[in-house]
Amino acid sequence: MKKGFIILIAFVTACSTARQPTSTSSPQHITANGKLFTAVFQQRAAEYNALCFQAYNIAKIRLDEALSKSPARPLAIVTDIDETVLDNSPYDVKQSLVGKDYEQKSWEQWTALAKADTIPGALLFFKYASSKGVKIFYLTNRAETERKGTLENLIQKGFPDAVNEQLILKTSVSSKEPRRQVIAEKYDIVMLVGDNLGDFSALFDKKPADERNHNAALSASEFGRKFIVLPNPVYGDWENTLYNYRYDLTPAQKDSVLKSVLKSY
Ligand SMILES: [Mg+2]
Repeated sequence: MKKGFIILIAFVTACSTARQPTSTSSPQHITANGKLFTAVFQQRAAEYNALCFQAYNIAKIRLDEALSKSPARPLAIVTDIDETVLDNSPYDVKQSLVGKDYEQKSWEQWTALAKADTIPGALLFFKYASSKGVKIFYLTNRAETERKGTLENLIQKGFPDAVNEQLILKTSVSSKEPRRQVIAEKYDIVMLVGDNLGDFSALFDKKPADERNHNAALSASEFGRKFIVLPNPVYGDWENTLYNYRYDLTPAQKDSVLKSVLKSY
């Protein structure tokens, strides 16, 4: 444990020297520095891997239960892509090292590379589901311009059903609810897999933080049943909601918000 701590300190120190603040950010900002720390968790913590394995182990149990019931309609699994089946933490690290947060342009340059690794447990699970005749739908808020790189990445990694018809990209609205409903017209959706609560229900779409937490409590029995949740400490609507979905806030303004919502004693 001590050795791991020393390695972590060395890594963070290395990041500190490599970081180049821009006019819009500085190394002190939580939005840059904090994302480096959470990316260390995603990339290096065995606990992160264990949480992902846990999610996909539960998913397999639920799938086997559904398969044993001889469903009347064909079965489908609806899964998110980012931080659910593909690991984009190298993008977050690259941005944070130069004091930047997410940007659409650099994000699309990353996804076009089609080199994201897989989330632990994902590939094995989706291959298993496909072998049982279950259709996989990749329901993502990646843009249409990212279709080619996304398919290439999924195919390279060996994910089943990585075809145009089953890759459902963002349309005019970011809510996934209308796209889920289209899939549900033909299939029984066995489960939804994702890292962001909007991957599961419209109950979580663009809602204030307190309401998201309240709705998560209302949906408590669904987690580990129909809703299979992957960990994502780096980004998500859990963060966006704290800014009231104002994506134009400066890093300093975001910092003020984050510090104002933290508990201490
Ligand atoms: Mg995601």
